[in-house]
Amino acid sequence: MKRQILQVASLSALLLFLAVQLYMIRSIWQQKEETILMRYTNLSREGLNLLLAKKKTNGFEKAMEVTDKFAGYLISDELPNLSDNHDTLSLSALARKEITSILYNNEMLTEFLRSYIGRAGYNKDFKSLIAVSKLEFLTPLGSMVLSDTTYEAPPENCLLVNTFREEHNNFIIEYHYLIDLTRMNDMVFREAFLSLLLIIASTIIVFLVFWFTWRNLMEERRLSELKSDFINNMTHELKTPLSTITVAGKTLTKKQIISEPEKVIETAELIGKQSIHLNQLINTILEVSYLERTEFELDRHKVVIDDLMHDIVTSFLTSCNGCAEIEEDYNTDGLSISADLVYLTTMINNLLTNAVKYCDKDPVIRISTSTDTNFMDISVTDNGIGISREHLDHIFEKFYRVPHGNIHKIKGLGLGLYYVRRIATAHGGDVSVTSKSGRGTTFRIKLPI
Ligand code: ADP
Repeated sequence: MKRQILQVASLSALLLFLAVQLYMIRSIWQQKEETILMRYTNLSREGLNLLLAKKKTNGFEKAMEVTDKFAGYLISDELPNLSDNHDTLSLSALARKEITSILYNNEMLTEFLRSYIGRAGYNKDFKSLIAVSKLEFLTPLGSMVLSDTTYEAPPENCLLVNTFREEHNNFIIEYHYLIDLTRMNDMVFREAFLSLLLIIASTIIVFLVFWFTWRNLMEERRLSELKSDFINNMTHELKTPLSTITVAGKTLTKKQIISEPEKVIETAELIGKQSIHLNQLINTILEVSYLERTEFELDRHKVVIDDLMHDIVTSFLTSCNGCAEIEEDYNTDGLSISADLVYLTTMINNLLTNAVKYCDKDPVIRISTSTDTNFMDISVTDNGIGISREHLDHIFEKFYRVPHGNIHKIKGLGLGLYYVRRIATAHGGDVSVTSKSGRGTTFRIKLPI
């Protein structure tokens, strides 16, 4: 419960941290955007004032001259020929378009501002925008309004530098001069780069540290569960022979048994057998702790695989009183490999023992050998209870046992397959498993030739 609360709390803290980082990124971005807009507004207005003060012009002098001539031509040559309202409208649209283009092509302000802003050390990669809001022709018959649009807020990333109103011989014009910061995002990114980099890097580091800690915590939890399972199993395994020995010992002290020598021998043999079993268990545990501390030391000899397999099968069947039907299919043609005979025998014996242990019907086992170019395979297939997918990845781990309801029903310490893998890898090979729940299992050992 405490651990769960801790997990939920740490996950929430992580999410909160992420939210704060995102918020900070957004604020920094907005702040930089505002700073850039403000900087360009100030610089462009300063530039315009400088132009006005120094050269007594706003940079549209030539544009106004050309526009005046163009307006004069329209008034004298085109207006008298207008026949209806439709004509007036199309002339009005044409004039507006043409005059806007005259303004763009003849103004000097943009060039001046570019060099002014460039000299101040900032990016001069911007476009100008001219929006005509009012246009009137001064004809001999009076003023003629060609265009009268209300000016709305500037488009995104555009800043208003100034609104000009000019009166000339043939026309009156009102227009807005704007700067369009087309590469605004690039500019913001460049200026905010370091802060963004620091935020992102620190977020990644925090996530990685969190992930590693979380993984270690989970692994520790799993190991501590395995450990307590192992201690339970071990206690159970040790208690069984011990209690048999205790009972047998008590029996031997009874007077009436002394008169029956066969019973005395039988009980003594039982004590002997259980002592051997106890000894084996203790040795297994000691061996594991020894193997953890040292590397496997193999006593290698040339071993003819098919012969060895057959010998192992025969002695296994003898020792378990023919507890299984074993089919043998050897195909390595007298091939011999360099291996440790004792470890190899232990490995195959563990697989055969498991095949019998984890079988709920009459055990039928198939043991086969084959060769590849550089490797040879030993397969042990059984018709047992099988192993489900979720456990398959763990069965070679130390102390791991698949929970079968009552785990004590089938004895074991979860070390057999751990040994199998360690012995296989010590020989330069490996072991793999395929299994289907309820259908049986195949263990495949690969050893280098
Ligand atoms: P133990 O047999 O002592 O539990 P092992 O390391 O030999 O330990 O096996 C680990 C687990 O793998 C066992 O608990 C068992 O559930 C499963 N297992 C091993 N061999 C087989 C098999 N042939 N068929 C089904 N399950 C098996």
